[in-house]
Amino acid sequence: MALRQLRVNGDDILRKKAKPVKEIDAKILALLDDMWETLRDKNGVGLAAPQVGVLKRVVVVENEEDIYEMINPEIIASEGTQTCDEACLSVPGYQGDIERPMKVTVQALNRDGESYTVEVEEYPASIFCHELDHLDGVLYLDRATNVRPIEKNEDDE
Ligand code: ZN
Repeated sequence: MALRQLRVNGDDILRKKAKPVKEIDAKILALLDDMWETLRDKNGVGLAAPQVGVLKRVVVVENEEDIYEMINPEIIASEGTQTCDEACLSVPGYQGDIERPMKVTVQALNRDGESYTVEVEEYPASIFCHELDHLDGVLYLDRATNVRPIEKNEDDE
């Protein structure tokens, strides 16, 4: 495994649409492993492949004990709304408020190429939406309000 370099806001790759994974080969498995290492190094909760400069539809999410590897994820259902206070490893030092669905159902492939669906609500639903947006070149900043420097009393840093 290896740490990959995080791309930050202003890098064109964050604005491009990622391509579906056609075959889960050794390169994709290495990408997944490196994304985990990079995410954990930054104490993040989610990471999408474009954030490490790879235009593939691959996302990892770790929210406490819940771990998700998603290849070619799609939101197949969503319900309700919530206002979330979000930040992004690619927009260091800032946070903002954004409206997200309260509940989403996502279909994806795991690293064995098996299709699964997962339903999440509240905080993890916002993480899934945030990370899947990255696959389409969208940053939370695009729709967020009250974007401000991260409040220092929060537990990052
Ligand atoms: Zn992000």
